[in-house]
Amino acid sequence: MKMRLRFAPSPTGQLHVGNARTALFNWLLARGQGGTLILRIEDTDAVRSTAESEQSILDDLRWLGLGWDEGPDVGGLRGPYRQSERLALYASHAERLLAAGRAYCCFCSQERLETDRKKALAQGRPPRYGGACRNIPLAEARARVAAGEPAVVRFRVPDHGQVSFDDLVRGHVTFGMDVIGDPVLVRSDGRPSYNFAVVVDDALMEITHVVRGEDHISNTPRQVLLYGAFGYTPPKFAHLALVLGPDHTPLSKRHGATSVREFRERGYLPEALVNYLALIGWSPGGGDELLPIDELARRFTIEAVGKSAGVFDPDKLSWINRHYLKAVDGARIAEASFRYFQARGFVRGPTGEALAFVGALLPMAVGSVDRLEEIPDRLHFLFEFDPLAALARPDVSEVLREPGAREVMAALAEALAGQPRLADRDRFRAAAARVRERTGRKGRALFHPIRVALTGEAGGPELDLAVPAIEHGAELPPSAGVAPILGCRERAKMFAGALAERPH
Ligand code: GLU
Repeated sequence: MKMRLRFAPSPTGQLHVGNARTALFNWLLARGQGGTLILRIEDTDAVRSTAESEQSILDDLRWLGLGWDEGPDVGGLRGPYRQSERLALYASHAERLLAAGRAYCCFCSQERLETDRKKALAQGRPPRYGGACRNIPLAEARARVAAGEPAVVRFRVPDHGQVSFDDLVRGHVTFGMDVIGDPVLVRSDGRPSYNFAVVVDDALMEITHVVRGEDHISNTPRQVLLYGAFGYTPPKFAHLALVLGPDHTPLSKRHGATSVREFRERGYLPEALVNYLALIGWSPGGGDELLPIDELARRFTIEAVGKSAGVFDPDKLSWINRHYLKAVDGARIAEASFRYFQARGFVRGPTGEALAFVGALLPMAVGSVDRLEEIPDRLHFLFEFDPLAALARPDVSEVLREPGAREVMAALAEALAGQPRLADRDRFRAAAARVRERTGRKGRALFHPIRVALTGEAGGPELDLAVPAIEHGAELPPSAGVAPILGCRERAKMFAGALAERPH
């Protein structure tokens, strides 16, 4: 039988990376085995669910490259795919269980339930429903509901015995009935509970494999009992260990970024995040780690997923991101990093010329950053040049104290005055050679002060790349939409001027 899998987010916030990993494992399994992936929106919590959250989860999944075959936006034969649009199905299923005596109406007040719960806890018993309404005859219950008394529908869990299932990750799992209280199926406002809706949906959507977070394992026995009560065959279950922070507690805000959106905004590439998430609790084998998503899908099996929780390791994610930053097409990086240049005011709109200019700068930056967000900072010397501010910085002062540094700077200003731009590496080298002849300085003693005079920085990208980039930027017309860039001639002159006013 063809595999049918689903990812079932609740639209109550941003997509958490742990849930993104669950979505990914479902996707890898569906794609690797020629199955079908369904996206279902679990929005029965009317207070916390929002359309914005649903939209942002869909956007983030698509950004990650995790598409689906059936879902609220693409349709399919087993829809609708939003729980809020399936209320009639839940109502008819609840009716089936009530009529069969497998469910009953419960009129207990919140206060009563709370008192019972506290009593149970005080006596060291598991807090479960005491069963006060279990034996109210259905006709009487219906009359009370008709008269307007608020009621929930509860499932009648058998009094004795055990319920078990074979989990594809955790193995054989057994729960005693005595720890399972009669769960609420339908709330007093008519909304289904999670455990009820998920069973109705997974059954009607003909899901064959439920792959989800381990936080749902204690729900599973209730769900297995519900499948039995309806006469449906339960799907196979696979509960994935949670993603933990470095302190081995579930990854949360305290640990820093947790949503896909945050990682996206900080400039991780989707292929890097996907590749990293796949490695939490699973290994593609063969000593390989850096693999494209299709290859991950080809190798993925649920049986190979580890039982123990994985710790989220930001350093490893950065390492993988660096790999993809170097591997993917430069034009894509230029486009993806453009907004960070915009945020710094280095460029205006993404004109062809501005994108090409940013693209040409990238070789100076991608090798030395973890994320797209850091790129403009590596290149800010192009757009921001302030000799006085530079001179006030300790690392620059240190270069100035090197013997002959001031002479090199003065000679550089003279050597560039009235000369054509240093449009390529050779012209820059020729200019540097003239300064060397005039001052007798070479190597570090030559290039260190030249760097400071032309970039205002004591360190940075190779001058062979930086100098032609500065000159190219200085020639761009204002229509290119790039912030004004001072050329090397002007920089050298300004720096020498600032230096002349500064006592030794
Ligand atoms: N809506 C549930 C959640 O986001 C899905 C649980 C499930 O996959 O059954 O946790």
